[in-house]
Amino acid sequence: MSSGRSRLCPCLVAGLQRLSFPFLFGGAGSAAAGAYTPANSGWLMPLVVVAVGLLTYALERLLPYAPAWNNGTGTRSDAGHLAATAVFAHLGESLAWSAAVAIAGTLPFSQGVWPRDWPLPAQIVLALAVGDFLPYLYHRASHETQGFLWRVHAIHHAPERLYTLNFARFHPLNAALTAGLTLLPLAALGAGPFVLFVAGVLHNVHGVLSHANVDFRLGPLNAVFSMAELHRWHHARDPRLANGNYSATLTVWDWLFRTRRNPGRGVARDGVGLWHGSALPPRLLQQWIYPFAQLRLRRAQHRRPPRRWRCCQPA
Ligand SMILES: [Zn+2]
Ligand SMILES: [Zn+2]
Repeated sequence: MSSGRSRLCPCLVAGLQRLSFPFLFGGAGSAAAGAYTPANSGWLMPLVVVAVGLLTYALERLLPYAPAWNNGTGTRSDAGHLAATAVFAHLGESLAWSAAVAIAGTLPFSQGVWPRDWPLPAQIVLALAVGDFLPYLYHRASHETQGFLWRVHAIHHAPERLYTLNFARFHPLNAALTAGLTLLPLAALGAGPFVLFVAGVLHNVHGVLSHANVDFRLGPLNAVFSMAELHRWHHARDPRLANGNYSATLTVWDWLFRTRRNPGRGVARDGVGLWHGSALPPRLLQQWIYPFAQLRLRRAQHRRPPRRWRCCQPA
């Protein structure tokens, strides 16, 4: 994939490609760990995520994976759509994280299960892996059952380009289920508030970076992180490529369930979006209602009497 990096010297390009992810991801984790207090957890997480989002926006201009994705068609309406979804979905997710931080360790059966004597970095890695298990199953079911869950999830896959704001483009039900399935098991197992908070920041920052239109080159780190080079395949228009890479942050469940995909070449510029035969209504509210409207429609079709029976009724 070509990029608009000709103004930069090749060594700077190579450095940015390889180091920007470790710098942003590690920097966000360090900032969250260093600044966390129980009192500031409510606003610190959105602050770190927005700061990373702004830096990523600048990187998209400096080192785009696909320059055309920075100027896609329908940008104005798409921006309004994305902003509304970002506000609702991200607020919901942040609230769920805050609620989980508040209840962590307070449940009677949670004491002693979580390895609180492990070093904190190891607990944070464990939280990222364990917290992604139920969302992995939910995400996979959304893609592979092609029913109600897919129609809820399809909003995330509708854009035909990938850039920073895509990370927040979810149906509110999708965002709430994912946040709950991530957090509640961790809180029930007794993970501490600090661990939950830092893992939450890293989870959200990874979401921003994995959708960014930045030509990241992670090299061997692609085996560990479900980052942009893998996640673009998950957004491929071809379902044979899209039905994989379901893990949100670490690739552990994709490795274990053999759903990790990395064909090793870039996704084509016109290769992301909904697969052929799949479609969504154009407006935001219609998209939010769409899965439920389809359910009603299908129920009504199911209730309709069989043709032979109807033809035998008296007029
Ligand atoms: Zn998906
Ligand atoms: Zn995505």
